[in-house]
Amino acid sequence: LFVAFEGGEGSGKTTQSRLLAIWLRDQGFDVVQTREPGSTKVGMRLRAILLDAAHQGLSARAETLLYAADRAEHVEKVIRPALNRGSTVVCDRYVDSSLAYQGAGRALEAEEVASVNAWATGGLLPDLTVLIDVPPSVGLRRMASPADRIEAEPLEFHERVRREFRTLAAADPERYLVVDGTLTQEEISRLIQDRVREVLPD
Ligand code: C5P
Ligand code: MG
Repeated sequence: LFVAFEGGEGSGKTTQSRLLAIWLRDQGFDVVQTREPGSTKVGMRLRAILLDAAHQGLSARAETLLYAADRAEHVEKVIRPALNRGSTVVCDRYVDSSLAYQGAGRALEAEEVASVNAWATGGLLPDLTVLIDVPPSVGLRRMASPADRIEAEPLEFHERVRREFRTLAAADPERYLVVDGTLTQEEISRLIQDRVREVLPD
C-alpha cells in the first residue's frame, strides 16, 4: 500500500504522515515513512540545491528535472523496494507536488511535467493521496522558521499551487482524500484513518 500526502506550505502533512505511520504500525503493518525531496543520499544534496535561497531564479525546467531526479532515486532506492517487501509506504509529497509547484506554480505545461515524472517514477502512483487543503495565507503564517527558496515565493504562487492540488484531487475522487487543513490535528487524523481503513489489505 502506497499513501502519499500532498498540500501547501504549513498544511500539516508532515505531522499527519507521521501520525498515520504510527497508527498503521499499531495495527501491525510494517511502515516506511519517507518524504520528498531528500530521502536518499543523492536526494539530500538535491534538496539542499533546490531549497538554497542563493539559487533564486533557478530555471523552471532545471527545477522540474532536479525534483524529478530526486523522485527517480527515491522510487528506485526506497519506495519500490519497500512495496516489493510488502511494506506500507507513507510519503510526504510525490508527483502531484511537481504538477502543482512546477506545473501551476512555475507555469510549465502540465502534460510535460506529468510525462517527465511518469518517466522518472516508471509510472508508479500512490494507491491513495491525502490532500491537506489549507489557504496559503493560513499555511504560510504557521511557518515558524525563515522561508526556504520556494516558501519565499509570493502569495499568488502559493494560490496557484493550491488550486492545482484541488483540481487534481477533484478529477480523481477514488484516489484522493481531501481534508480541510484548518480542522484540529485530531479531527484530521481521524478522517485520514477512516479513509485508509477502507484501502487496507486484510
Ligand atoms: O515539504 P517541504 O516543505 O519539506 O518541501 C520542501 C520544499 O520544496 C517546499 O518549500 C516545497 O514547496 C518545495 N517543493 C517544490 N516542488 C516540489 C516539491 C517540493 O517546490 N515538487
Ligand atoms: Mg515547505
